[in-house]
Amino acid sequence: MKPPVEIKDIKDFAYLTSRKLKNENGEEKGAVFLWRRKGEEEFNYKLKCPYCEEEQESSVVFNKRPYRVRCSNCGKSILVEKLSSK
Ligand SMILES: [Zn+2]
Repeated sequence: MKPPVEIKDIKDFAYLTSRKLKNENGEEKGAVFLWRRKGEEEFNYKLKCPYCEEEQESSVVFNKRPYRVRCSNCGKSILVEKLSSK
């Protein structure tokens, strides 16, 4: 999956992450980009669901961690894990 085109300069973003996502068998079938612009409350995400492999883009307001997005196709909830400190 390609990164979202609007991401050009990382300095514009308060939050930006990219994760590979595994399905229930541990296979890396999906990916998620999650980002929030400085001064905005909404997060935007681009998701390739690891379960049904549907690509989708949407926005969401998260109230607390951990951040989760829901696939609009199969309805599964997908955890966007924090970056490890390594
Ligand atoms: Zn799905």
